[in-house]
Amino acid sequence: MKQGIHPQYYETTVKCACGNTWKTGSILPEISVEICSQCHPFYTGKEKMLDTRGRVDRLKKRMSKSDDALKTKTAKKPRVKK
Ligand SMILES: [Zn+2]
Repeated sequence: MKQGIHPQYYETTVKCACGNTWKTGSILPEISVEICSQCHPFYTGKEKMLDTRGRVDRLKKRMSKSDDALKTKTAKKPRVKK
């Protein structure tokens, strides 16, 4: 390695907001994260609300509405093959 051009490399402990910690290599002596593979809903399979403004709820409502609309639409006007 060339001298004087490489940053200090630490074995870093990463701390997550959920309490999970693990080691990694980084130029930072300490890393804190809000979410990790132990608590992210994608990995846990659980639904976790990170959304505080109800935007997810609104989207879900809208989706279910459009779902219903789609059903009634297709029920009323079945496609006719030409
Ligand atoms: Zn976590």
